[in-house]
Amino acid sequence: MPEFDAILFDFDGVLVDSEPVHCACWAEVLAPAGVTLDWEFYRDCCIGIDDREMLRMMATRAQPPRNWEELWALYPAKKELFRARMTGAPPFAPSVDALLGRLDGQYKLAVVSSSSCSEIEPILVAGGLRHYFGTLVGGESVERGRHKPAPDPYLLAAQRLGAERPLVVEDSAAGLASGRAAGFAVLEIQRPAEMAELVSRRLSRCKLE
Ligand SMILES: [Mg+2]
Repeated sequence: MPEFDAILFDFDGVLVDSEPVHCACWAEVLAPAGVTLDWEFYRDCCIGIDDREMLRMMATRAQPPRNWEELWALYPAKKELFRARMTGAPPFAPSVDALLGRLDGQYKLAVVSSSSCSEIEPILVAGGLRHYFGTLVGGESVERGRHKPAPDPYLLAAQRLGAERPLVVEDSAAGLASGRAAGFAVLEIQRPAEMAELVSRRLSRCKLE
């Protein structure tokens, strides 16, 4: 029996190198409010934290300091800019399409993200990858307070696929904890560019064993 019957992928930082795009969109909408956001600060202090937390931090760094709620009012503009940019030129590595093509038919596939399906699905469609996935689990798919690191999102994906032995592919501490709490094998990715290679190696290793 194969070691795995499904592969469950996180979205941001695993399937797609979206953090630089998030940063660029925030920088653009925050600039007129007197807030400067550069990639080094975003990379070191903002990835993996809630958008509201990030804006509380940015508000204290603004010149002059701002009320964070004023900055939160810019969120719809940032969200729209991100949507337009990601669907206009989805930054999927060619290796991702090739990997999914190889896995298709051998494994059940899903995306499990804390972002909403309404955000990630158009990006998958624009990148020509949507058809590979049997289901998408988004932030709205589980009850409030049951997001990663709780096991619920990964358990739900496995249930929808009818999978018993999934491999979870994740980059964040919360995501890794979520996959482990679900009782599934977990593969940690540091950068999206290395994802296809690491997944291929993990799967060929279990074929050799
Ligand atoms: Mg991630």
